[in-house]
Amino acid sequence: MAAQLIDGKATALEIRAEIAQRVEELRGRGIVPGLAVILVGEDPASQIYVRNKGIACEKAGMRSLTLRLPAETTQAELEDRIRELNADSGIHGILVQLPLPGHLDERRALGVIDPKKDVDGFHPINAGRLLAGEKCAVPCTPRGVMELLRRTGLELQGKEAVVIGRSNIVGKPMALLLLQAGCTVTVCHSKTRDLAAHTRRADILVAAVGRAGFVTADMVKEGAAVIDVGINRVDGKVVGDVAFDEVWEKAGFITPVPGGVGPMTIAMLLKNTLEAAGE
Ligand code: NAD
Repeated sequence: MAAQLIDGKATALEIRAEIAQRVEELRGRGIVPGLAVILVGEDPASQIYVRNKGIACEKAGMRSLTLRLPAETTQAELEDRIRELNADSGIHGILVQLPLPGHLDERRALGVIDPKKDVDGFHPINAGRLLAGEKCAVPCTPRGVMELLRRTGLELQGKEAVVIGRSNIVGKPMALLLLQAGCTVTVCHSKTRDLAAHTRRADILVAAVGRAGFVTADMVKEGAAVIDVGINRVDGKVVGDVAFDEVWEKAGFITPVPGGVGPMTIAMLLKNTLEAAGE
């Protein structure tokens, strides 16, 4: 039997409508949640992401500010701009669009953001709080994945979860959130031996690799929930890390690309901004 499709696009729209309603209530109390996005340089994919974030913000009734800095911006200039936003009471969330040009130190820049305004959840304080299971800004993509999993109605406790990818922005926080939800978690990565032996045990399989069609049907357990975080461009088309056409026949649940995790990332960014504004 074919898998049930997890419709991230529809879920994200629902969440964005809920957020818009809460923003309206906040505005009634004189608070307009504000998100500032800093874009350094002219990376075409980043420009599209930043534009979409701004549009989503405005649609939700939030204030959106985009700082476009030239590619030759120095580390000191970037950090000064972040500090100005830290001090701006009309800005509740600050996001530095990654990747930064090669001469800039990402970790140092992210560390300058006020942790209370760190809506991406990449500041070491928020990363530490997530590890300790404390309240914090949770990175948007893994938070979106958890929201999708919860809405399937699947019991997560006691399940085998396998995450492929160990990046700071997806793989590691994803593994921590699944652990918090009571899953038994395995994190696989580029040095993992016999990857398929791990993935075949997974009741929940999250792919965050960045390689088109990487997860094939023989790597998937019958009935598993397969979450595809990957965004890859092949012949002008956006595809995920999962070979959808074959895995769809075997999985219990599956997210499409596009229309799966991607829209949830933006919805969770709005949610983090709303929460930073005092919700
Ligand atoms: P990354 O390049 O930082 O990490 C990729 C991970 O894949 C690494 O940890 C690496 O160890 C692992 N990997 C590479 N080759 C492997 C192999 N042969 N076997 C097992 N593991 C292997 O990437 P990232 O930033 O974590 O992003 C991963 C993917 O998710 C990318 O396609 C990215 O575009 C996408 N992404 C999507 C969203 C979204 O909103 N949907 C958000 C962030 C990232």
